[in-house]
Amino acid sequence: MSVIDSALLQIRQLQPYSPGKPIEELERELGISNAVKLASNENPLGCSPLARSVLQQASEHIELYPDANAYYLKQRLGQKLAIDENQITIGNGSNDVLDLIARSFLDASTEAVFSRYAFMVYGMVTQACGATAKIADALDRDSDSPYGHDLEAMAKLITNKTRVVFIANPNNPTGTWLSSDALRAFAEAVPEHIAIVVDEAYFEYVELEQYPDTLQWLDRFPNLIVTRTFSKIYGLAGLRIGYALSSPELCDLFNRVRQPFNGNSLGLSAARAALDDDAFVDRSRRGNAAGLQSMQRWFEQQGIAYIPSAGNFLTVRFGDSSERIYQDLLQRGIIVRPVANYGIPEFLRISVGTEDQLQQLYQALGAVL
Ligand SMILES: *Cc1c(COP(=O)(O)O)cnc(C)c1O
Repeated sequence: MSVIDSALLQIRQLQPYSPGKPIEELERELGISNAVKLASNENPLGCSPLARSVLQQASEHIELYPDANAYYLKQRLGQKLAIDENQITIGNGSNDVLDLIARSFLDASTEAVFSRYAFMVYGMVTQACGATAKIADALDRDSDSPYGHDLEAMAKLITNKTRVVFIANPNNPTGTWLSSDALRAFAEAVPEHIAIVVDEAYFEYVELEQYPDTLQWLDRFPNLIVTRTFSKIYGLAGLRIGYALSSPELCDLFNRVRQPFNGNSLGLSAARAALDDDAFVDRSRRGNAAGLQSMQRWFEQQGIAYIPSAGNFLTVRFGDSSERIYQDLLQRGIIVRPVANYGIPEFLRISVGTEDQLQQLYQALGAVL
């Protein structure tokens, strides 16, 4: 027996996360320097200028450990969100927070519930803990919310072994979302010893009237955990800062599981500054709305179906040609995201780009379709 055989079975069976193709890699392969990446839902406008402006100063003392309690970031987040600092858990990206939640609740005797086509990380953290994933069928492709979470189906999977329910709102890779009424009714129905995780990575992009204000629900639901991130609209994916909002008691638990320095000093400073940059967030939100509209119009004109999206990406149906189209776009210097690993190989997920990037996308797609 080898040392590998001694590793936990659930770990040996994990599939590594497959990220979008890095832009440098494609540029190296093609010998070009102007590739366009629309594959990882990054902010095409870059990062908040205010965040960038504090990096120089923050880098002057990287020999020091970061503030393990993220004092200044939590203080600013608390003000901004009107929430107590002892309800905020900082993570190395919100993926880290999802992992903290899983490790706090899940082991081999327990189950986690989530939807088919839900964000990949829920399955990964569940399996890493040796817990069983109970995956609810998604809504029908002809329904009001094609491929979206079916909360009724999810509720039916809850057993006395369930400890966590993961919900992405909006979900990646489908872009589907849940209304305030639907999510609230679901939360009311879930037994209060089960953690309800609402992943709001795209929160700041959503402009729908029916979108829930889940922070208002934290007092009513001591089992509710809302996760958000600086990776998306704030454009700080490379600095890895995310957070969870919950009851102080849950927050206290997560802070025991958490690695002491999981929030790095550059990330903490940049995130703190980004929170003051309302102008950048507004510009990003408006640019995204315009880009999403432009994409929807273009695909409609081509007679190509897509899943309506509340995020900063559009998941588009290319049918049997999707892998070929992915490869052909790569040859033209454009990276989009295959989603075959989510069980929907007929789709490609395309992040909303700048106007320029979208024109390049349309031109390339025009040629390869
Ligand atoms: C991008 C994304 C995240 C954020 O990941 P980070 O670790 O914060 O970079 C979380 N959830 C969903 C659904 C996402 O799409």
